[in-house]
Amino acid sequence: MIGDVMVKKQMQKDVKNYRDIGIDANPPQEVCDDESCPWHGHAKIRGRIFEGEVVSTKMQKSVVVQWGYIKKVKKYKRYMRAKTRVIAHLPPCLKVNEGDKVRIGETRPISKAKAFVVFEVLSKQ
Ligand SMILES: [Zn+2]
Repeated sequence: MIGDVMVKKQMQKDVKNYRDIGIDANPPQEVCDDESCPWHGHAKIRGRIFEGEVVSTKMQKSVVVQWGYIKKVKKYKRYMRAKTRVIAHLPPCLKVNEGDKVRIGETRPISKAKAFVVFEVLSKQ
């Protein structure tokens, strides 16, 4: 009997407190009650996934993520460095600073300018 209780307790500990987002990513340690969180809310990631650097954390629950790419310029037969900036939703369970590398996924529009959500922090600065 005592053994059964122990096993039950162990199982309760192992119960995961996050949803399966369908992407191979490390779930956050913390739990939040944000509706737009892909792990603990209802945000569904579908569409495109990008990896970028956080360049601004001044907004509440939003960050600016930027990544660069190389673009060919036909006229001059040379390559140009270009960048893309996207405003992404930051759920409270993820903590990021400027300079961190994150992965973002496309969701339904959360606001006028936001249709992406941060779901994984790759490296801390
Ligand atoms: Zn969360």
